Amino acid sequence: MHVPKVLEIKEVFEESETVKTFIFDWDMNSEYMIPQPGQFMMLWNFEDEKPMSISSIDPVNGQLGISIKKVGEFTSNVHKLGKGDKLGLRGPYGNGFNLKGSKILAVGGGIGMAPIASLVDYALIRGVKVDVVSASLTLDELLFVNRMKKAGVSVFTCTDDGTCGFQGFATDRVEAILMDHDYDMIVTCGPELMMNGILEMAKKHEIPAQFSIERWMKCAMGICGQCCVDDTGWRVCVEGPVFWSHEVNLIKEFGEYRRDSSGTRNYYK
Ligand SMILES: Cc1cc2nc3c(=O)[nH]c(=O)nc-3n(C[C@H](O)[C@H](O)[C@H](O)COP(=O)(O)OP(=O)(O)OC[C@H]3O[C@@H](n4cnc5c(N)ncnc54)[C@H](O)[C@@H]3O)c2cc1C
Repeated sequence: MHVPKVLEIKEVFEESETVKTFIFDWDMNSEYMIPQPGQFMMLWNFEDEKPMSISSIDPVNGQLGISIKKVGEFTSNVHKLGKGDKLGLRGPYGNGFNLKGSKILAVGGGIGMAPIASLVDYALIRGVKVDVVSASLTLDELLFVNRMKKAGVSVFTCTDDGTCGFQGFATDRVEAILMDHDYDMIVTCGPELMMNGILEMAKKHEIPAQFSIERWMKCAMGICGQCCVDDTGWRVCVEGPVFWSHEVNLIKEFGEYRRDSSGTRNYYK
């Protein structure tokens, strides 16, 4: 599993101006190759390799999807590729989401909707009821709203500029929803300050919560130590990327800073 498989891109979907989903055939015959929602792959374009969550898992047709937001050199180069072009994939890596209870609230901010989308599919198949909050800067960047609605999920949207009808952050939306809905669990992925706000709300409402966090990754298999967090030393690529609230509480840097490729701390505020 640590050797990249060079695979043809089977399909490309434009989700928004900045996000594309790439579909690959993936051999799911052996148990450890079947991706779980919340796990990620290392994507190799024969020059560089970057971590990417799995946004769709289709064990019946043996396919997985990766949704990529164009932010820099690597992601811009991948966006230029189309059906029939090749990329390398290794994984799946990390600790995915764990379903608990029969009704969950799934909150995705921006491209953080990628692992949330595959979790929603997974939960629905298992008879778990899911409400989704999809948040972004503006309406055109809201991800997977139609896909979620088609699957029968209630979707609450919010954008910073109010173009979707609700102006505010995901945390504002979640706070309002928690006033009159009960959930057995919250799962979330997105900007860390957003997740930090959700951590506080989950505590206040005593709802178990899981957080998919990002740190700079190199090897993705727990050897290099690049993605270790202060002070626990947990490797986000192995012990994460999904952590429970009680674990996040022990991660001193959560919501404060994250390290770049050189190990330098970058503070959020
Ligand atoms: C577990 C995990 C899952 C992710 N899932 C997705 C996803 O589903 N879709 C998606 O679009 N993006 C995802 N990312 C982020 C993605 O890896 C970065 O956007 C990408 O590496 C940017 O590369 P770039 O050269 O285009 O941009 P750059 O300009 O090089 O980087 C832009 C920003 O991306 C992040 N980044 C860059 N390289 C890495 C790296 N090796 N490891 C971690 N973060 C990095 C940093 O925050 C950096 O500031 C995920 C990251 C992690 C850690």
